[in-house]
Amino acid sequence: MLRFRKFSVLIFLFLPFFLPVIQPLASRAETRIIESATGDVFELRYRQLQPGEPLAVVWKNAVSDFAGVYFGESSFWLKRDDRPGQFLLLGFDVMSEPGRRVVEIQLWSGGQIKQKLNIELEIAVRDFPKKKLTVAQKYVTPPREVLDRIKREAELLSLVYSSSSSEWLAEGSFILPCEGKLFPNFGQRRIYNNVPRSVHTGVDIAVPPGHPIKATNSGRVVLASDLYYSGKTVIIDHGLGLFSSYAHLSKLLVKRGQMIKKGELVGLAGSTGLSTGPHLHWAVKIYEARVDPLALLELEF
Ligand SMILES: [Zn+2]
Repeated sequence: MLRFRKFSVLIFLFLPFFLPVIQPLASRAETRIIESATGDVFELRYRQLQPGEPLAVVWKNAVSDFAGVYFGESSFWLKRDDRPGQFLLLGFDVMSEPGRRVVEIQLWSGGQIKQKLNIELEIAVRDFPKKKLTVAQKYVTPPREVLDRIKREAELLSLVYSSSSSEWLAEGSFILPCEGKLFPNFGQRRIYNNVPRSVHTGVDIAVPPGHPIKATNSGRVVLASDLYYSGKTVIIDHGLGLFSSYAHLSKLLVKRGQMIKKGELVGLAGSTGLSTGPHLHWAVKIYEARVDPLALLELEF
């Protein structure tokens, strides 16, 4: 599978102590079936068509030799094989504009395009919360001596997110990385010390320091490092462009390059980096698109 992408920068993290608490909902994913005259059947699986949401495109019944899938600046190339339910993942970034999107699928057999499908998606408006925060000025305007470090780490993260396993490494449904109070703060627009600064691109789970943090699913550890903004951080590549990350840990229990199973420990919770208290910042990306990790829990794989 081929995939082309742009780089994106790290957006950082914070714990709000006084937000209402929510629990994840039971599965309420939607499905949409698209049938082609060639006999190919695709199924779209998603929670909502909104900014910050993932979308799985499943080739339910593969008849053609190849399917080329085009979405925005991304393109994918699937070859029919004997495994039913091949799929790919798309993400609508948290900052993406609402409006119409088209997923184009080209079906090829015998070296010729047999059919083109244009699947229209209407991305609805999503009203993200806003929040004012007061933090140490060094995080809003980092001191000069750490600017090189921040730049290096941003480049490292771009590199980490630029390639993903072409094999799906995850197994079955995704799980919460820990028990704890879950804050519905994905996508929150943040105003630091009265200056609009960033968007909160994960969810926060309040847990005591030292609380065990588990892998949301199986994959390969592609980063286990201490970073300026996110503190001790682990990133797992689950394949097909899907990454999960775990930030502000007090202790890392995995190493880069290591394979990890769903539910195994990645580290212990803490408050390292830009953080006001012990919590887990849990985030998910589909290549450059920053999506709500809670949406992932509701999709069937
Ligand atoms: Zn956070």
